Amino acid sequence: MPKKKNFDTPELSVEELTKALYEVNLELQASNNQILEEQRKNKEFYANISHDLRAPITAISNSLQYLLSSSDITPDEQHETLLMMQKRTSYIENLINDIFLLSSLESSSQKVHKEEVDLRFFLEDYFYMCEDDDRFSNCELQLDIAEDFDAKAMIDPVLMQRVLDNLFSNSLKYSRENLRIMLSAKVVDHNAVISVEDNGIGIEKEHLEHIFERSFQVEKARTPDASSGSGFGLSIVKSIIGHHGGCINCQSIANKMTRFTINIPII
Ligand code: ADP
Repeated sequence: MPKKKNFDTPELSVEELTKALYEVNLELQASNNQILEEQRKNKEFYANISHDLRAPITAISNSLQYLLSSSDITPDEQHETLLMMQKRTSYIENLINDIFLLSSLESSSQKVHKEEVDLRFFLEDYFYMCEDDDRFSNCELQLDIAEDFDAKAMIDPVLMQRVLDNLFSNSLKYSRENLRIMLSAKVVDHNAVISVEDNGIGIEKEHLEHIFERSFQVEKARTPDASSGSGFGLSIVKSIIGHHGGCINCQSIANKMTRFTINIPII
């Protein structure tokens, strides 16, 4: 007669089961904390967006009211008010574009059109474009691409240009006198290592670990206009680099220098 199988007898001892339950409980607690932290960040993110949108919209609405209700506005005053409204409108436009790009990158709905690109040509093209750009006319631009830098990578040139744009504009925004920006590239362990370094205001140590967070700005109280940032720039940069299988980090010394270093795999 076949022996009856006893399903009720556990294979583990009570102590082993208690230990396993305890460990599962710890894991659950950790993932619960992670979810709570995500929720807190999301709440903060939406509060920041609402604030960043409300401030310029209120300013535009007040200016409109002023233009409509005052009968003795000089043409100069009118022009100045309209210019200010234009700046705030561009700021809102940029902010909305950034939010849209970041959320589509994070949800992977953003199409990444990768193609084989010669990184030396790509970086040189970008550098010479900056040299012709009036925004950089007062700063010293340096290019330092290793002689043996012969690297091709699968990249989306439009998104990768957005990365360089963001890093270069930040160097401009957070600059001091005699600004110098250096773009350099070399190959290390089958990765292209590309860096953008400036001698601007730098970033305090306590802020450094937060700069890639969504909507983080060291100085929140800047007047919003088209050139002031949304605080999304570096999270967009990080996400784009992630979509290329790479990583980015930042080293900085307050009042001295900031260097962003990108690693992307080459083919
Ligand atoms: P923002 O729109 O504020 O420029 P970013 O995400 O591009 O947002 O940057 C986040 C913060 O990191 C900035 O507010 C700024 O304080 C700091 N930062 C970024 N790049 C630089 C730089 N090159 N030099 C100094 N500070 C920088």
